[in-house]
Amino acid sequence: LVVLDNVNKHFGALHVLQDIELTVARGEVVVVIGPSGSGKSTLCRTINRLETVDSGRVTIDDKPLPEEGKELAKLRADVGMVFQSFNLFAHKTVLENVTLGQVKVRKTDKQAAETKARALLDRVGVGNQADKYPAQLSGGQQQRVAIARALAMDPKVMLFDEPTSALDPEMINEVLEVMQQLARDGMTMVVVTHEMGFARSAANRVVFMADGRIVEEATPDQFFSNPRSDRAKDFLSKIL
Ligand code: ATP
Ligand code: MG
Repeated sequence: LVVLDNVNKHFGALHVLQDIELTVARGEVVVVIGPSGSGKSTLCRTINRLETVDSGRVTIDDKPLPEEGKELAKLRADVGMVFQSFNLFAHKTVLENVTLGQVKVRKTDKQAAETKARALLDRVGVGNQADKYPAQLSGGQQQRVAIARALAMDPKVMLFDEPTSALDPEMINEVLEVMQQLARDGMTMVVVTHEMGFARSAANRVVFMADGRIVEEATPDQFFSNPRSDRAKDFLSKIL
């Protein structure tokens, strides 16, 4: 579904993505881990063209990513993204947040969009918060609304970039549970996270990055019990 083929990217002198080869199959959950600054966020962001690449190819369903205009807006709908910061529209209600993109990008009529939004808000456990504004919600609730907003676009793939790292500990699980359920429901997901429990239980594959490269790719069992590279061993010894 998603293919990165020999992708390279620089920020000035920094070679932030080096010869990246990554394929994410439909229904697969890929967890990306690695030290700070290794390029995990940048990798994610190339998949919905929040970052362009210097060389190599990024394709979704064998098609290169569109560069601008309506096609780019559609790509961003097809590739849902949830960030560390919740990024909800502060001046819109929860319901409006989950309805807007459907109406604007998918051209769904307002009534149908609201019905779908309410169903999704129920699904992520915040159905009773529909008429509130984001600032009136807890971080965990806001993050679940952000997930519902992305899901409302019927994405082909969901990208999560450290979705729980800005949350208080007691709110982390409620977000991880929604993500677990999504994984069980067959959503294609790329997840950058430091939550190794999630990686173990939800990932089909773990991708370990260091210094802009994919150093290791393995099943969670293989990776956590028997990392091959010294970089991965060193990283795991620090976080586990
Ligand atoms: P973290 O775990 O801290 O989130 P990361 O693996 O997500 O790290 P990236 O955010 O992808 O790392 O950043 C990789 C490198 O690229 C870092 O050295 C960062 O400072 C640099 N970088 C990221 N975005 C930009 C930018 N827009 N301009 C210049 N340098 C950038
Ligand atoms: Mg990051």
